[in-house]
This record gives sequence, C-alpha cells and structure tokens, in this order.
Amino acid sequence: PPTHRLADLSPAELADFRQTQQTAYDALVAAGLSLDLTRGKPSAEQLDLSDGLLALPTTTTTPDGVDARNYGGLAGVTELRAMFAELLGLEIDQLSAQGTSSLTLMKDVLSYLWLKGGVDSDRPWGAEEKVRFVCPVPGYDRHFTLLEWFGIEMIPVPMTDDGPDADAVAALVADDPTIKGMWLVPTYANPTGQVTTQEVAERLASMPTAAPDFKIFWDNAYALHHLTAEETKTADVVSLAAVAGHPHRPVVFASTSKITYAGAGVSFVGGSRETVTWFHANLGLGSIGPDKVNHLRHLEFFGTPQGVRDHMDKHRALLAPKFAEVERILSERLGGLGIATWTHPRGGYFVSLDVLPGTASRVIELAKAAGVALTPAGSAFPYRRDPDDTNIRLAPSFPTLDEVTGSMDAVATCVLLAAAEKLGG
Ligand code: PMP
Repeated sequence: PPTHRLADLSPAELADFRQTQQTAYDALVAAGLSLDLTRGKPSAEQLDLSDGLLALPTTTTTPDGVDARNYGGLAGVTELRAMFAELLGLEIDQLSAQGTSSLTLMKDVLSYLWLKGGVDSDRPWGAEEKVRFVCPVPGYDRHFTLLEWFGIEMIPVPMTDDGPDADAVAALVADDPTIKGMWLVPTYANPTGQVTTQEVAERLASMPTAAPDFKIFWDNAYALHHLTAEETKTADVVSLAAVAGHPHRPVVFASTSKITYAGAGVSFVGGSRETVTWFHANLGLGSIGPDKVNHLRHLEFFGTPQGVRDHMDKHRALLAPKFAEVERILSERLGGLGIATWTHPRGGYFVSLDVLPGTASRVIELAKAAGVALTPAGSAFPYRRDPDDTNIRLAPSFPTLDEVTGSMDAVATCVLLAAAEKLGG
C-alpha cells in the first residue's frame, strides 16, 4: 500500500506520479469497460432469495378470516402489520402496510400535509408563505428531489458519526416556524451508513420547535440490513417523542424493497395512532385497500419476524463480500495518501467516498470516459450542490463481485489521477 502523502511529494515526484496514473488510466480506457456503481439495487442473486414468493400465497384468507381477494382492509393485512410492527419496534395500530414503495408513502404524507395539514397543524402546509426542511447531508437524492418538487426549501446540516448534528438542528428549528420538518435515515444512512444514536434521537424527538406541527420523516429503509453479525437496533423515536410531549412528530417509513423484491414488496408507514388514522383518512379518498394478496404472500413467506431476520442473513452473505472488496481496494490503493476518506458501513447499501475537495466531478467524468458509471456529482446534496465537490456515492450491491473489483480499481485510478492533476503534477 502507498505510504506517502501526495501533498508532500516534490514537484518532480508528483510529475512522475501523475505520469504513472495517466498511463494506468489510458490502459483503463483502452480496456473498454462497461460497469455501473450508481444505484443501490439488489442483485439478481439477492432477488432469487425471494423466489419462494412466486408460489404464494397458498390461501387467500388471512389468519383473521378476511378474504384477501376482495376490497377493504385499508391498513393492510393485520398479521403482516404485526410482524413488521415487532421488527420496527411499534405497536400494531402504529403501523400501516401498503403498496410496493415507501417513497410513494413519503410523497403521499407530504401531499396530505400540503393539502390538509397534519393532526397538529393550524393550517395546510401549502397555505404557509414558506415551508422549509432540514436535510442531513450527504443524504438520499430522492428525498431532496421530492422536496424540490413541492417547492420546499432545503437547509443542509452535517451528518456526524452519531446521526445528524443535533445542536445544529435544534438551533435552526427553535425559532423559525417555517421549518416544518426534517429527513432522517436513522439506521445505516444513505449514503454514509451512520446510525442515529439513542441520545441524538431523544434530542430530536424532544427539542422545542417553533412550528407546532414539525415532522421528522424517519425513513428506516435499512432497519434490518446489517452487514455484520451485529443487529444494530434503531432508536424508538415514536416512544421518545410521545414521552417528550410531541407524539405526532415522527412519521416512520420502511419497506421490503431490499428484503424481498424491490419492485414488488410491501411498504409501511407509521407513527402515533392519530398519525396512522390521519394517514388512512386521507388515503381512503383514493383507495379501498392495498394489495392484500401480496401482504399474505409475504406473511406466508416469512412466517415470523425471526423469518425476516434469517432471510436478511442470506442477503448479508451476498452483500458483505462486495463491501469488503470496496474497502480492500480503497485502502490498498488510496490509503495513506491524504487524498481520500471513506465510510466503513456496518449495514445498508452504500459507501460514501470523499475525494480531494474540488475533484469529485473530475473523478466522475474520468470514470465515465473509462466506461464506469458513478452517481452524478452532488447527487447526495440538496439542489445537487456539493459545496466542496468532494462526495461520491458508491453502490456495490448490484454488480457481481468481479465487477465490483473492476469498477473499484477503475475508481481508485480516477481518484489518483484527478488528485495528481489538482495538486499540479
Ligand atoms: N429511502 C431510502 C433511504 C432509500 O435508500 C431508498 C431506496 N434507495 C428508498 C427510501 C426507496 O424505498 P422504496 O423502494 O420502499 O420506495
């Protein structure tokens, strides 16, 4: 592994170094790669793990005697709600089971807040002169583009190793009533992998907010998606908020998109009983009930909450080697040079790579020209503006292990060349 900080090299050494990287890069381009590290999709092998679903359900009657083929049951199949309520640390009437996408539920909840207001709103959010949201960065690009679509102004706050910078959030929301909410991916955040600690969750659940109807969009997309044997538990934000006297502050989201099928799973939305009732009251105008046959299919497939955990172990067996390969290549090729840092996630779907400030877009451009697709620069920031042009999100789940090796080697070469260019070699 390299041992010299690049910035300490003499001009001649740096020029040498740059020439070496240019040669390596030219070879890469000549190899004509076609690789993709852009989206956090499950691989075909991961999807195969759930093919048992295709023979289910074996009955169309739910355990509590409902005909799943018919209309009704707006909250979803009771026993599936119970299964995921246990996994998510909620009571059954604090959780609703719906269609295939939790992102749709986020858009629904925002739409209802916008048009009608929440259980604790004085008026619809859309009637406010301005609505703003706190956005921990780097974060999930679709969270940000959704807010942009609503015209909700985004205020970035940094992620720390313990979750969002709680002091910064508390200071912002204390006396600004236009700040109506915040995003938070509490477990194995996209893209940084951090887990929000109990202390930070408590602070966010209890902090005074100028807006009476402040919401934490608690997107627990990776609640069960461990990459190690340690099953990190998510803080119980709904109880924390209730104890603090803000019971309707959290709205919880989750789905089986990365448990069963990304395109045919089950999504969940939860919070206080009142929040769930409010959600159904609004949803009910446009639906008489979700796909209960798919709910039953999932219920039979897993059997018990432990069945879900056991299933996640099989995902881990496929994913962990890919993440280990990303770590190996980054540390072997970029370690000790002082030009890059990266996350070491214990779960989730991403590695967040910070390259020399001012070079992320150049790295992505170089990679593209060499046939390696990376998420566009700035994607993990509101308005796609990475102020330091430093962050690159890596998603190693979809490519094969060989493809991860090939694409990460290419990424390392591009990072090295861009750094050499920047440092004037
Ligand atoms: N939230 C986060 C943080 C995600 O990373 C993703 C998927 N990349 C989603 C939500 C989308 O979830 P779903 O498939 O349930 O819409």
